[in-house]
Amino acid sequence: MQEPLLDGITQTGVDRPEPILRAGNTNCGGCGMSIGLQMLSRAVADRTVQMVIPACCGIVTAGPFPHSAYGAPVVASTFASAAAVATGLAHVAKMNGEDTRVLCWAGDGGTYDIGMATISAAAERNEDILYICYDNEIYGNTGGQRSSATPMGAVTTTTASGKLEQKKDIVGIMAAHGIPYVATMSMAHPEDLFHKMRRALDMKGFRFLHMLSPCPTGWKSEPGEGINLVRQAVESGLYPVVEVFDGHRWVVNVDSALSQGALESYFAAQGRFGKTKIDLAEVSKAIHRNWRLLQMRAAFDTQKIS
Ligand code: SF4
Repeated sequence: MQEPLLDGITQTGVDRPEPILRAGNTNCGGCGMSIGLQMLSRAVADRTVQMVIPACCGIVTAGPFPHSAYGAPVVASTFASAAAVATGLAHVAKMNGEDTRVLCWAGDGGTYDIGMATISAAAERNEDILYICYDNEIYGNTGGQRSSATPMGAVTTTTASGKLEQKKDIVGIMAAHGIPYVATMSMAHPEDLFHKMRRALDMKGFRFLHMLSPCPTGWKSEPGEGINLVRQAVESGLYPVVEVFDGHRWVVNVDSALSQGALESYFAAQGRFGKTKIDLAEVSKAIHRNWRLLQMRAAFDTQKIS
């Protein structure tokens, strides 16, 4: 019988009962990524997974080799190569006939910026990968520099007077690849989140999930406020909870009240916006524009186009 390739990387019976993120890890208190990993753990349940984590906070979490805070096999990759490494693992698993889901767990720096070339290439080839971006809107483990996911007005170590540019539209970019599944997830709406994680785990082809991930250290917010902040982001319309199938069928999963009160609370609760003058009227206008576009996309019935 042919020897399996990369034998030993596959999740083993020893790993299976473990949570994806074990206790005793070094994440900051209130880290949204930790909450996301706990939720991922439940969604994965008894499925076999291999994880690829680039050089973001997610890999610092693992701790020093040979120990690991992860209860699943993890390959640590460079920022730039997570999707390429995951592509290789997915092909090897297929050649071995293994029922293994290969997933990338990456921050916004590794996704929106440094990893974009390999993500785009893997998406264009529709590789069989689940890519999850926990978006803390900052380079968390390297000192809190701005990324292209940092919102306009946020103070970071490289934008002392507040970022001048808009946040990149990663959902639109990934949907434009025509991949089977793109979705955003709110940790304040756990039923929707679990449904999407499970759906994405069991689909084939390139799947992309995005999760807004509060970072008390970078956002200068209270550690216990993370889920409230995400709820306010959804209620204000700042963070739409959506799905996109095959790049063209848009679904809005959580209606937003486009609440001005929630928007004000969201900005007021984060010290990163404290030094800059955020023009809430302009932010609100942009939110309304984005929602009109979303509603048009969701109403557009692509099934009727021949
Ligand atoms: S810096 Fe932010 S993302 Fe990184 S571990 Fe701390 S809270 Fe989490």
